[in-house]
Amino acid sequence: MYIFLIVLIIALAAYFLFKKKTVQTPPLTTFNPKPLLEANVTYYQKLDDNEKTRFEKQLHAFLADTHIEGVGTEITELDRVLIASSAIIPIFGFPSWRYQNLTNIILYPDTFDGEFQFEGGGRNILGMVGSGYMNGQMLLSRAALTKGFSKSAGSENAAIHEFVHLLDKSDGATDGVPENLLAHEYAAPWLHLMHVEMHRIESNKSDINPYALTNEAEFFAVVAEYFFEKPQQFEAKHPELYQQLGLIFQQKPAE
Ligand SMILES: [Zn+2]
Repeated sequence: MYIFLIVLIIALAAYFLFKKKTVQTPPLTTFNPKPLLEANVTYYQKLDDNEKTRFEKQLHAFLADTHIEGVGTEITELDRVLIASSAIIPIFGFPSWRYQNLTNIILYPDTFDGEFQFEGGGRNILGMVGSGYMNGQMLLSRAALTKGFSKSAGSENAAIHEFVHLLDKSDGATDGVPENLLAHEYAAPWLHLMHVEMHRIESNKSDINPYALTNEAEFFAVVAEYFFEKPQQFEAKHPELYQQLGLIFQQKPAE
């Protein structure tokens, strides 16, 4: 907790220090995201034509709702498309979902250094959902954002991870149980499944990133990355978790 406070204070200091240098997002233009989506977002490539159209509509709506600014860097169209895709992928099963708890996204050009590393473990995840003074803000690193959509991403996607935290947080508690998406009676079985898998990770019997052991919220965000990034593999290796996440997100990305 003490460490967390220090990190938060450094984050706030850094935010206000760099705030002056931020580059404002250019006014929303009616750009066509299709070519960038086709070239960079595997999830989108697999959708049928109707779903692609809906994805593009949701992308535009998200970008109209959300202010994106760069720290010491200009936001490109690709940045906007990748950020919006990370937001839409987890809620694509809920066509009318709007993120109520997000107003601003701050993109750093590269990884934060040691002091700005908000997500630890051996994986250098670089992102943060703000709380307290930072409520409504999300910090992302472009390096992590881009890597998440690259061929070498594996089962990881840092930006999707942060949006899953935001979904989890939308019921008031970032606790790994997204009450807004999961009916009450499913909460206990979900927690049970989570703890069983945590024991498997602890005994080196799971391919899920050990960062998931941090707590239930991190477990949820880490397995969600895997679910969306490598759905077939996830379904084959973790059928129960796949089914459970399918229930939470109302999607079957392996199909
Ligand atoms: Zn996290």
